[in-house]
Amino acid sequence: MSDLHKNLIDGAWVDGDAAPNVNPSDVSDIVGHYARASADQTRTAIGAARAAFADWSRSSPLVRHGILRRASDEILARKDELGRLLSREEGKTLAEGVGEVTRAAQIFDFFAGEALRLAGEILPSVRPGVGVEITREAVGVVGIITPWNFPIAIPAWKLAPALCYGNTVVFKPADLVPGSAWALVDILNRAGLQKGVLNLVMGRGSVVGQTMADSPDIDALTFTGSQGTGAALALASARHMRKSQMEMGGKNPFVVLADADLSIAADCVVNGAFFSTGQRCTASSRIIVDKAVYSGFVDLLAERIQGLRIGHALRDDTQIGPVVDESQLSQNESYIAKGKAEGARLVTGGDRLNRDTEGFFQSPALFADCTNDMVIAREEIFGPVAAVIPVDGYDEALAVANDTPFGLSAGIATTSLKHATDFRRNAEAGMVMINLPTAGVDFHVPFGGRKASSFGPANRDAMPPNFSPRSRPLTRSPNAGQCKGPTP
Ligand code: ADP
Repeated sequence: MSDLHKNLIDGAWVDGDAAPNVNPSDVSDIVGHYARASADQTRTAIGAARAAFADWSRSSPLVRHGILRRASDEILARKDELGRLLSREEGKTLAEGVGEVTRAAQIFDFFAGEALRLAGEILPSVRPGVGVEITREAVGVVGIITPWNFPIAIPAWKLAPALCYGNTVVFKPADLVPGSAWALVDILNRAGLQKGVLNLVMGRGSVVGQTMADSPDIDALTFTGSQGTGAALALASARHMRKSQMEMGGKNPFVVLADADLSIAADCVVNGAFFSTGQRCTASSRIIVDKAVYSGFVDLLAERIQGLRIGHALRDDTQIGPVVDESQLSQNESYIAKGKAEGARLVTGGDRLNRDTEGFFQSPALFADCTNDMVIAREEIFGPVAAVIPVDGYDEALAVANDTPFGLSAGIATTSLKHATDFRRNAEAGMVMINLPTAGVDFHVPFGGRKASSFGPANRDAMPPNFSPRSRPLTRSPNAGQCKGPTP
């Protein structure tokens, strides 16, 4: 097959069963064929990463800086082409695709700098004549498992820090969107990585991901995806005493108070709930609105939503692309049916749409008159569906916002400093936005949630330099051996 994109294992491009990568805006458009790695190939990749670790972890920071720098430059230079590839395979609009690729370049740029900034600490010991040095060292082989909704930014977010600090990597992208991941690995490989430092194993979670989870040779695992898979991977990691980091779902609240600028609030809701087709873990899915402005605000939202242009991701005038595939679209539909059955009022949307091409188009759905105990207000839908919940004043809004098993992002629209300050402090979420959409975060600051949304260290250093600062005696004075105190 001429367009077969292979896996990178121990520095060689290796064949595997070919799977088509289908464009969700037009199912007749095959983006390319991508090899699925077997369990054996995955084990070989893990072994290669283990073998490459000693040299890579001791390489000069300048070498690592140069590779990340060159990768960033190439990604940026090719942002239009790569953005188009991303939009073709995932379905977000071209503007969103190019924006995501630019973000990936910025992440590599940031970590190229960080490679030269790694520092330690020197402390006086409590024992006389002894010094203490604290250093951060690479943890070993890092397994990276990524979801389909950010095909290049999430891989970049995990790959750049892992490589920056001298870890070797086995990387498994989502089976649905291997194209951007393949292009990224190709760029990094050509930027000068030695064989085995970065291994790409595309394919199924149940085969490739499971083999990684079961391997005692993966020292740290970083995952973004669904809550169920994240919980299973955390358990598998615990069995191996492996350091792990899980970024999972959200059911993010956006509160609209009576004193809000309603136009800003509507912008935040439309962006947060429906851009990227609602397929973001930070999407706003519960819109909690003070009864004093409730009915006017629901009308305003309906008007804005009905004006959105839904269509082929690559068309210039499209604002909302398709849902990623048939199975996600039917899942969205089943939640819409549940919402109706529970007595929520479907104000607008929720229909399958026909366009010139055969794709998975759906009109953004807004439910009103919801209660926070409805299934559509509790479970993550991961599509363009939002539930509006009326409340009486700030205190009830905060209580409803926090009444969820998740805690990734939370937002509020208000002109009150008192309420903004209180919400920032008391919203049970990793990230709190004021007069901003719940989705949209900087790359150089921590990213992570509370409760069922996240487990392990936050994502600023998606894979931190290491998880275990090490302290050891730095100097010994001639009489150090006479110290009788407890020794570590
Ligand atoms: P979603 O596909 O909804 O983003 P998933 O949790 O199913 O969420 O998938 C996220 C990533 O986890 C994907 O790369 C997927 O292939 C992988 N994955 C799925 N099941 C497993 C598993 N049992 N073990 C390891 N990885 C898995």
